[in-house]
Amino acid sequence: LFPILLHFLVTQKSAYTTLPSVLLVGPSGAGKTALLTLFERGPLAPAPSEKPTSTAPASPTPTHTSQAPAAVELAVSSDGTSSFRDDLDATGTTAKRFLLIDTPGHAKLRRLALSHLSPAKPSTSPTSSYSATPKSKLKGLVFVLDAAALADGDGLPATAAYLYDVLLALQKRASGAKGSKPPPAIPVLIAANKLDLFTALPAALVKSNLEAELGRIRKTRSRGLLDSGVGADDDVAGAGEGDDWLGEYGSDKFSFKQMLEFDIEVEVIGGSVVGDGPGADRWWKWIGQRI
Ligand code: GDP
Repeated sequence: LFPILLHFLVTQKSAYTTLPSVLLVGPSGAGKTALLTLFERGPLAPAPSEKPTSTAPASPTPTHTSQAPAAVELAVSSDGTSSFRDDLDATGTTAKRFLLIDTPGHAKLRRLALSHLSPAKPSTSPTSSYSATPKSKLKGLVFVLDAAALADGDGLPATAAYLYDVLLALQKRASGAKGSKPPPAIPVLIAANKLDLFTALPAALVKSNLEAELGRIRKTRSRGLLDSGVGADDDVAGAGEGDDWLGEYGSDKFSFKQMLEFDIEVEVIGGSVVGDGPGADRWWKWIGQRI
């Protein structure tokens, strides 16, 4: 127990120093807290050979409802290839440390999550010592969604609406810094979670359904703009209604590739936190490569 305690104390202390960070966002119930718990307790898993997905975390941290985002300090080997199950301290591997910051998924608290993305005001939360301070470098954003919930009813529109706001915030961040050097681009991983459930949509369908829905939302939100006669040829860059158009301005269909125009890379990868599914290794790898 002592080495574990020591590790805990050491990691807690250094959490106050400036570390690169990765932000977890997504609707309530998507599995953000479960994922944070899995990554945090990885080194404590019973046996490295055991399939991680076959055992749920010992006692999952319940979804937090407080306003302050929860965060854990994690480490990945300097080449980015270690597993979240590896205990890097025990093996003496040189590690890159980073913060994984959870955010509330509840609609009323989402502006808190989005406040992390504004370069001018990285956080409005005075309570959290973990907030991405101006010095802390946001290296990536993981949008966790429930791929099983996308298949029914309101799941897709509700999830896509939040994703639209997140991507738009990143787009504004990239294009808003006129004259000055734009802040470093933040890549986005869309983690299609719960693929252990047979009702879940596979990652490719999650991607195409989201693109279609984001396109619909874009049309709806810009209706006033299009009706007012502002066309694709008009210069709407800068302040104005055109700012709320996601992706390539005036294009008919939305695709994630359009975000590259703003230097924002978007990737959809399927996985699972609990149950007998593909696991979370590919998400961890994505994160590790960006730290
Ligand atoms: P959050 O609101 O995004 O933090 O979501 P939680 O982490 O609290 O997860 C919501 C529920 O989904 C919990 O009951 C989790 O056990 C469950 N859950 C999370 N990940 C998975 C998964 O990969 N598969 C299944 N079947 N359930 C999951």
